[in-house]
This record gives sequence, C-alpha cells and structure tokens, in this order.
Amino acid sequence: MTTSHYIAGRWVEGQGSDCISVNDPALGLPFAELMAASVAQVDQAVAAAREALHAWKQTSTGQRAAYLRGFAEQLGQRREALITLQMRNNGKPRHEAEIDLDDAIATFNYYAELAEQLPQKNCDVPLAAPGFTARTRLEPVGVVGLIVPWNFPLVTSAWKLAPALAAGCTVVLKPSEVTPLIEQTYGQIADTLGLPAGVLNIVNGKAETGAALSGHNGLDKLSFTGSNSVGSQVMRSASAQCRPVTLELGGKSAIVVFDDCDVEQAVEWIVAGISWNAGQMCSATSRLLVQDGIAEALLPRLQAALENLRVGNPLSEEVDMGPLTSQAQWLKVASYFATAREEGLQCLAGGKALDRDGWFVSPTLYVDVPADSRLWTEEIFGPVLCARRFATEAQAIAEANDSRFGLVATVCSADLERAERVADALEVGHVWINSVQAVFVETSWGGTKGSGIGRELGPWGLSGYLSVKHVTRCLG
Ligand code: NAD
Repeated sequence: MTTSHYIAGRWVEGQGSDCISVNDPALGLPFAELMAASVAQVDQAVAAAREALHAWKQTSTGQRAAYLRGFAEQLGQRREALITLQMRNNGKPRHEAEIDLDDAIATFNYYAELAEQLPQKNCDVPLAAPGFTARTRLEPVGVVGLIVPWNFPLVTSAWKLAPALAAGCTVVLKPSEVTPLIEQTYGQIADTLGLPAGVLNIVNGKAETGAALSGHNGLDKLSFTGSNSVGSQVMRSASAQCRPVTLELGGKSAIVVFDDCDVEQAVEWIVAGISWNAGQMCSATSRLLVQDGIAEALLPRLQAALENLRVGNPLSEEVDMGPLTSQAQWLKVASYFATAREEGLQCLAGGKALDRDGWFVSPTLYVDVPADSRLWTEEIFGPVLCARRFATEAQAIAEANDSRFGLVATVCSADLERAERVADALEVGHVWINSVQAVFVETSWGGTKGSGIGRELGPWGLSGYLSVKHVTRCLG
C-alpha cells in the first residue's frame, strides 16, 4: 500500500473508498495498491493550490524557469527507474519508454525557455487613435485541474504541468488510476527541488476523484486528456461554471499511401503507426487508405510484417510490442474482434487475444472494411488496423476526412507537391508527411472535430494557461 497523494507539499494516505491496484499487464497481476483520494482530499488539494497561487504568480519567470529545468534534470537522474516502471506498468518496450522519458525532459526544458521569454511579450501596443497608450500583460489563468489518461503518463502530464507552471499557475494533477505511480515522480521532484507547497498537488483515484476535481468550483481552468465520453462530462462540469476547458480526446486517424511509395518503407510507417504502445495512442493511424496501384504488393508484406512483430513481456524479452496496459482495454479490444467476426470482416493478420498470461493481443489487419463498419469508425485503442482501397487523390481526402475525429494523419507519397496538397486538405490538427508519430515540442498537439478543443505544446500550449490583459491609459 503506497502513500500516494501529494497535497500542500506533504505525502498523505488516501481516505477515499476505492482501492486501486497497480498491475503488471504482461503478467496480469498487481504489484502495488493504494487508496484513492477522498472528495475532501480533492478539496484540500484545490485549497492548497489556491493558497499557493498568489506567491507563485509573483515569482519571476527566471525563477520558474529554474524550477522547470530542475524537473528536467531530476527526471534524467531517475532515468532507469522511470524506464523500468513504464515497462512494468504500461507494458512499453524499452525504447518506447526511453522516448517518453526524453519527451518529458524536452518538454520541461522547452517551457523553461518560453517562461524566460514571457517578459518580452508584455509590451506596448501601438494604437491608431491618439491620446492613449496601451500595454499587454499576460497573467496566469490561476488554479488549474489537470486530468490525464494512462497511455503516456509521463508525457501527457509533462505537456500540461510544464506550461502551467511556466505560466505561473498552480495545479492539481489527477493521474489515471491505471498508472498512478508514474506521476508520483513529479511530486517527489517537487520535494527535492523545494517547490513551494501547494504549487503542485497530486490526487490519485478513479472516476469519482476525477469528477470531484473537474466539477470543483475552486478551479479557474480544467485541462483534460482522455476519452470522448469522459471529455463530454468534463465539458458539462466546465459549462456549469462557465469555465475554460482544454480537451485532448480520441482519434481514428488515417494513413494515406499513394502508389508511388516505396513498399517496404510504407509498410514500416504503417506498422509503427498501429503497433507503437500496442496501438494505444490517440494518434494511432488505424485507418489505412491504400491506392489501388500499390495495394496488391503492399498488403501481403504488411500482413507478414505484422505477423513477424515480436510480442511479449518487455521486462524479460526482446519485444517490438508489449501487452495492452489494462484488462479493461484488453476486453475492449477483444470485443472488437468479436464484432469483426459478426460483421464478416476479412482478417489478414491477428484478430485474437494471445493464448498466454497477461493482456496480450496479436497485431491485427482487416482489409476491405466497409466505411460504415464499427471497426472503421470507432476508436479501438489497440493494434487493430483496418484497410480500404482508393483510386484517386480526391477520394483519399474524402475518405480520410469522413470521420467524427480529426486528430492526426500520415501521408505517404514520393510526390511531395501532392503530399503537401493532401496535407492541407485533411481536417486534422497535425499531418505527418513520409514519417509517422513524429512529435516535437515546438509543434502543436490537438485535434479538430471530436478530437478536442485547444492545443498543447509549442507556444500554443503555454497560451492555454495564460490570460491576456490590456491596460489602456488616457494621456489627456
Ligand atoms: P478516460 O477518459 O477513461 O480517463 C481519463 C482520465 O479521466 C483518467 O484519469 C480517469 O480516472 C478520469 N476520469 C474518469 N471518469 C471521470 C469523470 N467522470 N470525471 C472526471 N475524470 C474522470 O480515458 P483513458 O482510458 O484513461 O485514456 C484513453 C483515451 O484517452 C483514448 O480515448 C485516447 O484517445 C485519449 N487520449 C487522447 C490524447 C490526446 O492528446 N488527444 C492523448 C492520450 C490519450
């Protein structure tokens, strides 16, 4: 049983009613337990953040940048422990766990730099009208609630924490109940760095704890990453209080492969887009649109590549793909295998759970999937790829855009003019040309349509935690 809530600069035991099991998905067995925070503890965390706000927002941007660089450095010092914990609790292969850690470190360093540039953004505004001066002042939004999922715990939390702290906000972070130990690191680092008490608070728990936080009237903003169903509840809570909300939600993203592509290279991109993190990525490119001229050559190679992926326990084997992170996710993916059978879909690879302990499924490929199939339209969040063929560029764009989601897309073509044209026509927040899942801290993250509201990363990520004020003075 771990003491796992960080409130007002102190570690406390949970007083909620839910007991949370922290599992090793490769074995399907728990390795730690903790009690969820109670609603009263969520209140205490929000109160602590409110109390700390006044002093924290008075700190210089240089002081805040120093703390952020401290976070980056301390993450680096905990490197091996954090990589192992992600492998054990998320089932991530080592190289993916390493990428996540490096991403989190880069995020804290990047927002340290942006914090230092903030004073220059507080500047005079040239006015056309005579007799007045005006100046801009960027102020922290205030106390923010941060609710995150389990698929990239270190990263998703860093994408919110770093800009929020850089802006001068104080925060209450609620990690996912599936991976609650990973974000405890941020509390431990806050302790090590002597971050003022209450600036960062962490409460763990399930839906009840999340709802207590998202509905709390002591927040000035809520930033949520997770499913569409919970996202809409979070938005309802925010609307009841007319409070700003950032939502990073689900996806059902397309990868468009034109027939001028190198087949082997295209297969590599397609496989990466559906097998990294066992397909548990909001940005998984799970809808393959392949042009008629390359389909016959590509599909058998893709089938072989998926079947050849080494699936296993990342802690004890050399693997390309680990298990699904939770039993709930494993059951959900298995239910889509059953739906595929009911719908009579043509399965070229996988389509089943693996016959071994733990929450493993095989990398899966369905082809010629009807556009109204649930497998084509719904987010599965597993290594399940669905393919359709297209003839023309216009058809590819129309099919890719025919989704209620709009997070990302990948375009693969040797004709770069065409690739850029298609990228411009896609209704998503981020397009990769001849690359896959390449996320840089300088570029934005977020979606159109049902994939969310707002952007993280880059200067847009910082703007989400800043409020614009103007001071206008009459000279007369
Ligand atoms: P989820 O919505 O079930 O849970 C997300 C978080 O919300 C968890 O911390 C959970 O405890 C909390 N929560 C649950 N019920 C709540 C409630 N009623 N009120 C407030 N909080 C509540 O999502 P998940 O299963 O953890 O994550 C998978 C989803 O996240 C997928 O849909 C995926 O696409 C999405 N996701 C999106 C992005 C993005 O950047 N767009 C990134 C990662 C994951």
